[in-house]
Amino acid sequence: MTAKTSTTPTARLIEVFSAIQGEGLNVGMRQIFIRFALCDLRCYFCDSAHTWNAPKTCRVERSPGRRDFEIYPNPVSLDNLIAWVQRQNIPSLHDSISLTGGEPLLHARFLAEFLPNIRKITTLPVYLETSGHRPEQLVTILPYLDSVGMDFKLPSVSGETHWQEHATFLQLCYESRVEVFVKIVVSDKTDPADLERSGSLVAKISPEIPIFLQPVTPLTPSEQFAITTDSVLAPSPEQVLMWQSLMKRFVKQVRVVPQTHKMLNQL
Ligand code: SF4
Repeated sequence: MTAKTSTTPTARLIEVFSAIQGEGLNVGMRQIFIRFALCDLRCYFCDSAHTWNAPKTCRVERSPGRRDFEIYPNPVSLDNLIAWVQRQNIPSLHDSISLTGGEPLLHARFLAEFLPNIRKITTLPVYLETSGHRPEQLVTILPYLDSVGMDFKLPSVSGETHWQEHATFLQLCYESRVEVFVKIVVSDKTDPADLERSGSLVAKISPEIPIFLQPVTPLTPSEQFAITTDSVLAPSPEQVLMWQSLMKRFVKQVRVVPQTHKMLNQL
């Protein structure tokens, strides 16, 4: 008789905790955050460089919002993550579950098994926070998502270029039933031509898709440890006003929202 081998996927995590969403359309909402390890991009402004590689352990909050973390080994099994989400999910506290990173879609195989299971134990909506450059992986989990916040990576700000992938990704979201918005980090180095290209790309899919311009938060010395380029600085108030006007030529809603969780000193 052949021995059975388990094919159940596992995930490498950074942390599971309860916090207030600080960016984009869901700003101010209380979410259960599942932060996945690993990212295949290297944005100049990254404040999560600690997620780029998978650590040996992850931390899991015992009581929602108390920051009483317990440490567990990576990789993490499906059953463990489901149990940790169940523990966080006390009645009426959370608005949704946030899949964040790193890049959560690098764990698409795991998510394709995790999300149907999580749907069985809670009605909380599932929100994916992603760089929006992996449409093939998105397809595998799109039926289990309620909303998607996708970043556009501007070459002038992030050093990354993914126009075609962004277009395919956004089109997929738009054609599905998910709520979708686009977030664009802007800095003093933002090239208006990148913004025009972004606005045009979104408008071709639908001018109803909201765009959030997020002025970059300058990195702290500890956040900058893995970044080799010069500091990325926030844009001036005049630049932000000009760019909002520019983007409003393409789509109906252009909101300027900085990272509010940093103002609140949240994780
Ligand atoms: S995609 Fe996000 S986690 Fe990855 S390098 Fe860019 S900002 Fe950092």
